[in-house]
Amino acid sequence: MFLKGKSAIVTGSTSGIGLAYAKALAAEGAAVMINGFGDTDAIETERAELAAVSGAKALYDPADMTKPDQIAAMVARCHDELGGPDIVINNAGIQHVAPIDEFPIDKWDAIIAINLSSTFHAVRAAVPHMKAKKWGRIINTASAHSLVASPNKTAYVAAKHGVAGMTKALALEVATHGITANCISPGYVWTPLVENQIPDTMKARGLTREQVMNDVLLAAQPTKEFVTPEQVAALALFLCRDDAKAITGANLSVDGGWTAA
Ligand code: NAD
Repeated sequence: MFLKGKSAIVTGSTSGIGLAYAKALAAEGAAVMINGFGDTDAIETERAELAAVSGAKALYDPADMTKPDQIAAMVARCHDELGGPDIVINNAGIQHVAPIDEFPIDKWDAIIAINLSSTFHAVRAAVPHMKAKKWGRIINTASAHSLVASPNKTAYVAAKHGVAGMTKALALEVATHGITANCISPGYVWTPLVENQIPDTMKARGLTREQVMNDVLLAAQPTKEFVTPEQVAALALFLCRDDAKAITGANLSVDGGWTAA
């Protein structure tokens, strides 16, 4: 329970990797604010379970990560109702796969807004509270695609490279305030985000479903396995420790060796 007394916001935590982050933080006693879209009853069940596990408050905030005013209000609410935020994990994300000459402009705008700009807005609102406490942990979920590219993912690759660059600049700015800022870059994790891109990848690359699974998704990792949400969350938890304070400005891969290959 090394996070007892700390509060955390995890954006996009109604599913996949974000949900694993929230559970990992709660298991260490943090008061967690979850966020994202989904079934209202399922979200309430998740919120209640997080509170039970942590022994602290847990809140759900429905902020839409395309809306800067809602992001700022979510951070302010966390401050008012949970204290902090001491930890912000920027994780909300979407993906779209299409050739550049057919890439929908609204998908480009949404991917940049949700995957990149939301991170800027959340951090901008949270840093003053962290500075006041002289302690903070900012963890931005980037991707293997912040380091290497894949075809037909121009917006996502651009957004994730942006997250990695922004995190480096941010780390320098907050370094003397007890605040660290790092990226975690997962390889493929089996979540709705990955499952939903299979039909478009089949179409864009002329592949069968089986070929996408084996030759694109699993083949990316030299381990030939999907990464699990829990493996990603374990690194986030480590970054929240006091003895991880020298790790800042880093882009840390949890990718089964993908970006080493
Ligand atoms: P997911 O689809 O399971 O979860 C995405 C979350 O973001 C959900 O909670 C969803 O409700 C939320 N979200 C989407 N749009 C939102 C909006 N406008 N406002 C608020 N919340 C919104 O996906 P995931 O795979 O768990 O992805 C989480 C993060 O991990 C993303 O940033 C993604 O780019 C990154 N990532 C995923 C993988 C992978 O293979 N799954 C690999 C590398 C990086």
